[in-house]
Amino acid sequence: MIYDLTPRPLNPAPQTPAMTWPNGAKSAVFIGFDVDAETAWIGNNPSNVDRMVTTSHGGYDARVGIARIVELMAELAMKATFFTPGWTALAHPEACDRIVAAGHEIGHHGFLHKMPDRDRLEETFEEIDRGFEALQRAFGIRPVGYRAPSGENFPELIAYLAKSGIRYSSSFRDDILPYRHASADGVPGPVEIPVNFAFDDWNFGMSSRSSARPLFGREAVLALWIDEFEATHAWGGVTTLVLHPQVSGRPMRWHLLRDFLRHVQAKGDVWIATGKEIADHFETLERQRRAS
Ligand SMILES: [Zn+2]
Repeated sequence: MIYDLTPRPLNPAPQTPAMTWPNGAKSAVFIGFDVDAETAWIGNNPSNVDRMVTTSHGGYDARVGIARIVELMAELAMKATFFTPGWTALAHPEACDRIVAAGHEIGHHGFLHKMPDRDRLEETFEEIDRGFEALQRAFGIRPVGYRAPSGENFPELIAYLAKSGIRYSSSFRDDILPYRHASADGVPGPVEIPVNFAFDDWNFGMSSRSSARPLFGREAVLALWIDEFEATHAWGGVTTLVLHPQVSGRPMRWHLLRDFLRHVQAKGDVWIATGKEIADHFETLERQRRAS
């Protein structure tokens, strides 16, 4: 692989002009869960499959995390998007059925959670195809949203996603408003609902022997989340959460997430929406702009 390091915007997607939100809301909140289960531990490190304690971090999803999170969403009367690797859907059909039965959106999150790699195009595209097949088999669903496993992307993958019927992606970190992907020569791609890395619970609440990190408790995390949400709200952006049931489904973190979402709900003029609803809204505004 020869790398093209020519100075240029590495993401050629045009910026979105001002954005309005439905029902006079000042900002939007997109609750996205990544239902990685064991794939977070075996996708990029297959030898972990024989390490039962290591993979048991992810096993928490099916035993406890998913059910607790679905329960929390019901209590708060909120709908979320659950980006589910195909492997998770096939390995844990009962736990995953709860998500679908509760009316949440299922998104694509690869098959085995392999990080997309431009040096391995075949494998990357196969992850997309197998993810679709598994979600079809498990739920009879063909998702329209995609979040990249281990959060990586590149032009060929964006084009492949669009070709496969993916209408929106939620992986990039370069904006506070949704935007439309475009290739360097202007071919439109899916809508991007960018994430805010401050809302990735893995950063604060996951540690393991192989990847030891400091853990942060509610005082640090709740204050950070509220500040970041309030500031994004003031700027009229979208606050995109990157949560994992194996992290935020843990007892203390579940309560912390509940307190944060109650804060958001109490704000009032916030549109809490699924990824698909945000993509639909973005496309409605696009059509209006084109018509005027
Ligand atoms: Zn993931």
